[in-house]
Amino acid sequence: MDCKKYINDIIEKLERENPGETEFQAAAKEVLISLVPALEKNPKFIEEGVVERIIEPERVVMFRVPWVDDNGKVQVNKGYRVQFNSAIGPYKGGLRLHPSVNLSIIKFLGFEQIFKNSLTGLPIGGGKGGSNFDPKGKSDREIMRFCQSFMSELARHIGPDTDVPAGDIGVGGREIGYMFGQYKKIRNANEAGVLTGKGLTYGGSLGRTEATGYGLVYFVDEMLKDNGLSFQGKTVVVSGSGNVAIYATEKATELGAKVVACSDSNGYIYDKNGLDLELIKRLKEVERKRIKEYVAVHPEAEYHEGGNIWSVPCDIALPCATQNEIDEASAELLVKNGCIAVGEGANMPSTLDAIEVYRRNKTLFAPGKAANAGGVATSALEMSQNSMRLSWTKEEVDAKLKNIMKNIYVSSKACAVDYADGRDLVIGSNIAGFLKVAEAMVAQGIV
Ligand code: NDP
Repeated sequence: MDCKKYINDIIEKLERENPGETEFQAAAKEVLISLVPALEKNPKFIEEGVVERIIEPERVVMFRVPWVDDNGKVQVNKGYRVQFNSAIGPYKGGLRLHPSVNLSIIKFLGFEQIFKNSLTGLPIGGGKGGSNFDPKGKSDREIMRFCQSFMSELARHIGPDTDVPAGDIGVGGREIGYMFGQYKKIRNANEAGVLTGKGLTYGGSLGRTEATGYGLVYFVDEMLKDNGLSFQGKTVVVSGSGNVAIYATEKATELGAKVVACSDSNGYIYDKNGLDLELIKRLKEVERKRIKEYVAVHPEAEYHEGGNIWSVPCDIALPCATQNEIDEASAELLVKNGCIAVGEGANMPSTLDAIEVYRRNKTLFAPGKAANAGGVATSALEMSQNSMRLSWTKEEVDAKLKNIMKNIYVSSKACAVDYADGRDLVIGSNIAGFLKVAEAMVAQGIV
């Protein structure tokens, strides 16, 4: 069997049958190409049609989300939930609220989630959802009415043993709270395990807020150590200034690095003295302001409206904003300025061309699928605590997170050694995530 041709035929069919879904096509292509060596060693996955089945979501739900704004005007948004794969556990993945959201983006994220969740070693399947609702500039009451309307439909499709959504871009503790309140009212059941990222007063887990950013740094630290390096004394650039960016900055600083730049969708700030994280937390988490406000407090720092944050020289780049934020030219710029490692906090922030630049230049690269799995892993720990009706301490959760990130590195690296050149964590993590799901799919028959 010519596995390369087999995969190319599947990619062609996928592109034909999912026209215009560029993000989903790119994500699927990246994974499928890397699976060739795994299929060569495991022909049973071909006989059982595992690849053909894994690229097709088990279920896609699309729905209307009507709500009333503060002026009494009716607004309508599109809602999505893609339940991609439940071979190893209930569907699990965040909800994204952003005007760019469409079916292609939700399918790309849901597809990635299958492999990421598998890598955590925990029993969670893959899913993702969201809406093209733009939370920016909305009042608290408008956010609440939107979340309630969204959950009025979503509630019938999810449950603690079926599908467990969480936060993503535009969905933090506030939104999860409003959604949980509505779910509870509709179902007349206090099923804490139906959503993760909850507040600490109603079933949330200590350490969940920090988990993705901390987990990213734990993973990159493993990668650096494996190559005789560390965060100590390194200059770091982090894009975004949301949940992942803030806690990646916190942990990298704790490990001795100096984080000098971060951004939002309007521009970036550069502070050669190292970022004042407490100020960023206040601006972003409490006051919900733009990052440019930073320079009002620190006039010695620079704000670059619309600039490219990847032009700031650094040793380590941690993209933590959104997909496709590092293209080929930005990757070249990073390498030229001496960047030795890139760790993805966001989902697919590097384009396929950018990843080629890292490969060519032997830049250490931690792909998001593996490196940002700490958030969903801690969500699964939240589910465990909800099932047991117990709460672990922050230290217990953090120790488990650290261990999980180490294991993800070890299993990704092992597959990179078995199936690639020993360095390529893209291939390593894709195959490590795939093997477990594929085995489970074979065991469960053609369903
Ligand atoms: P947040 O909404 O908290 O923050 C997102 C940040 O990225 C904001 O600062 C936002 O700026 C910025 N941003 C968004 N779009 C762009 C853009 N086009 N250009 C520049 N900056 C942009 O989201 P999270 O921190 O939760 O998520 C960030 C990334 O991490 C996403 O890719 C998400 O899928 C991924 N991720 C998140 C996890 C989590 O646990 N939260 C888990 C795993 C992955 P602005 O305010 O201007 O929009």
